[in-house]
Amino acid sequence: MNRTYLYRLYPSRAQERVLFAWFWRCCEIYNAALQERQEAWRKQRVSISRIDQEKQVPVIRAERHEFESIPVAVLRGVLRRLDRAFTAFFRRCKSGEKPGFPRYRAARRWRTIEIDDLKKNPIVSGGKRVQIPLMGLVKFKQHRPLEGRPKVMRIVLKNGRWYVAITCTGVAPKPLPATGKFVGVDVGLTHFAVTSDGQFFENPRPLDSARLCLERAQRRVTRRKNLKSQRRRRAACLLARHHERVANIRRENCIRVARALVQQFDRIIVEDINIPALLRDHPERARAILDAGWATFIYWLYVKAESAGREVTKVNPAWTSCTCSECGWRGPRLPLTTRMFVCGSCGFSCDRDLNAARNILRLGTSPRGAAHQRRSAKSAANGGPGHARPLVTRIARSGS
Ligand SMILES: [Zn+2]
Repeated sequence: MNRTYLYRLYPSRAQERVLFAWFWRCCEIYNAALQERQEAWRKQRVSISRIDQEKQVPVIRAERHEFESIPVAVLRGVLRRLDRAFTAFFRRCKSGEKPGFPRYRAARRWRTIEIDDLKKNPIVSGGKRVQIPLMGLVKFKQHRPLEGRPKVMRIVLKNGRWYVAITCTGVAPKPLPATGKFVGVDVGLTHFAVTSDGQFFENPRPLDSARLCLERAQRRVTRRKNLKSQRRRRAACLLARHHERVANIRRENCIRVARALVQQFDRIIVEDINIPALLRDHPERARAILDAGWATFIYWLYVKAESAGREVTKVNPAWTSCTCSECGWRGPRLPLTTRMFVCGSCGFSCDRDLNAARNILRLGTSPRGAAHQRRSAKSAANGGPGHARPLVTRIARSGS
């Protein structure tokens, strides 16, 4: 199992200056490497590989002394990043999506350096410092222990705060004791999630509660028209922090619900929601749908389930909200304002989301649900515990 651990990093003023210089040079290398690839293709019809470009790194460092102070691993990381951009571009071309050609980057937006192929654990001094090659020891806060074998380290500046992200391989899962219980989960807007055994999780609607702050901060940025002024930059940073806070609240809620479910149930059955289609069909609810963060929730559900040895199944959500979970009678589609489901055949009535969750559980444990799971297994295998890949695949399908 791979895991990335994120910690706050506290570089000194001098170390900050060095990191900014590295950002600047990384961006220069990136743009130069992109240009080389473009020109080689335009003029000679040859494609230049990452290996070809990596071979030039020692030459660059010998000729330009300002690159000597940057670790080779960092420069290699930049070339790998460009290579990833090209790979993604060609993949999109191949699968018939709308590809965007890799772009030139602005130096002031370059905020990440990556060091791959860590030979040893970069955390030293009893968890108080992290070792960065050619820079030395940088103070950081290790709020949780690292597990597995460190492979890649990234240093990121985000909204004025520094972070170090360490990706480890071979992290041992921590299986929870089996409970023998299955559950169906219906996600919604009135409640964030409802389980088939009647648990209701609140929807915090973080964007809703922060909207006044966001609007005020956004107006302040818009009012400051000089794009290069310090005052505008400060206002933009403040706005970004507000957005970051909203995203943090949303993510925390998703993790909290996912963890609660994983602790209680062996197998969790969720809807295979097509969010782009929902946004298209309900534009008036798009903000609320995106604010809920269902895709983030499903992502974290997979992550937590993987580490706890639980299983997550996706089922087709069609008709789950208007079918009776007692007798299987299917009624007309309910308007979203109708909160109660009443069966027209057996008279069973309950909360509409609870009824849907019970249907999802039934689908997930029936052969029909299993067939859907096999169909969506392909995209899940590509994306692993993650939502990005299946979502992209679905956008492509709806576009064609
Ligand atoms: Zn019924």
